[in-house]
Amino acid sequence: MPSYRARLLTPDPDAGSGAVRYLDDALIRTADGRFETVAPYRGEIVDHDLRPSILLPGFIDSHVHLPQTRIVGSASGPLLEWLDQSTFPEEQRFADTAHAAVVSRAFAAALAAAGTTLSFVYTSVHPSAAEQAAQALSERGLRAIVGPVLMDEHSPAPLCLPADRALPALEALAERWHGHDDRIEIAVIPRFALSCSAELMRRAGELARRRGLWVSTHLAENPAECAAAEARFEARDYLSIYEDLGLVHEKSLYAHCIHLSDAAWDRFAEAGAIVAHCPDSNDFLGSGGMPIRAVLDRGIGLTLGTDIAAGRSFRVPTIASRAFDNALRQGHSVSPGTLLWWATRTAALALHRPDLGAVHPGLQADFVLLDVPEWVESADEALAWTFFYADAPPPRGTWVRGERVWDRDAHRAAGGLFPWDEVGR
Ligand SMILES: [Zn+2]
Repeated sequence: MPSYRARLLTPDPDAGSGAVRYLDDALIRTADGRFETVAPYRGEIVDHDLRPSILLPGFIDSHVHLPQTRIVGSASGPLLEWLDQSTFPEEQRFADTAHAAVVSRAFAAALAAAGTTLSFVYTSVHPSAAEQAAQALSERGLRAIVGPVLMDEHSPAPLCLPADRALPALEALAERWHGHDDRIEIAVIPRFALSCSAELMRRAGELARRRGLWVSTHLAENPAECAAAEARFEARDYLSIYEDLGLVHEKSLYAHCIHLSDAAWDRFAEAGAIVAHCPDSNDFLGSGGMPIRAVLDRGIGLTLGTDIAAGRSFRVPTIASRAFDNALRQGHSVSPGTLLWWATRTAALALHRPDLGAVHPGLQADFVLLDVPEWVESADEALAWTFFYADAPPPRGTWVRGERVWDRDAHRAAGGLFPWDEVGR
């Protein structure tokens, strides 16, 4: 039964949304992969004294593209130009299984080194590359909801896979990986309305429902994309394309959601769908600002996505800070405690994982260890340095289900610079 002593910063699930618990000196014990004791330190002998670092629940990244790991910072936006010039050429390389394996390991290392313990991962269209992704994430010990993007039209030919090939391959992937080790889930991911036929999306939706899988796609990210999608499907609005194909429901996760009418937001909320808010990506591609009040006022499930590589950081706290900026530009001030919730507990609940997202007895022992200055001694200060200090060092450690998946100091001692440097292994 491992025990730890550290400063603690966590959402307080008992006290309700936005409530934060801070302990300047805490005892944390885990047993069978779950938190057993979370209490003020009272002189107990511990296995690991981690002070002065601060222990938080692991972060949740709800929208991230594995095959874009190597093109972070490609400033060729806006969206449709960026896809053609930067993204699609890179994703074609994932037809090569060896390349997919190397980048998948790098990606998993980057997530672990960012303190991310659960992620929703889009891979390329290639079934073999999705297999490599599931393998690498599983070997790293991370939780992930992962799937290949489905594309069969209006995209470069090497990235198009017809439904009759893509869907059986996806089903076989689910057969092998869904529920694997209680860490990996398989998702159904029609890339977006512009790259998919109606038939592919409809059949994908049926597959998801039949097997109880998450559905995810992009929605209303960019005005040119919206206009093209609505024209192509002769739709009254973008959301209705997905609604008519059975893709909008309580197990669907939509990335971006920037250009939606109030009426569309009402239908979205009614259906119980949830949002992957990607504010850094939205800024980098000039896509616009996701209207945060539209989500909060309707009680829609909210998660944060790095959206690598349109987003420029694997770190969810960095994305949370961008979400703060985005809200502020819309006249809405988000409390730092709420940012902590969005980065962890709020996302866990939205993704139907009430056993994740807080350091709390009975929940899964997914946690991250961060460095903040020694003089920090209050919840407000800890939140400030966690979310708004852009020059923070990478997390010192990351654990999933009580098992360590990232050790910064060991990695550095072995000569590692980037998370994916293969050293000391
Ligand atoms: Zn995306």
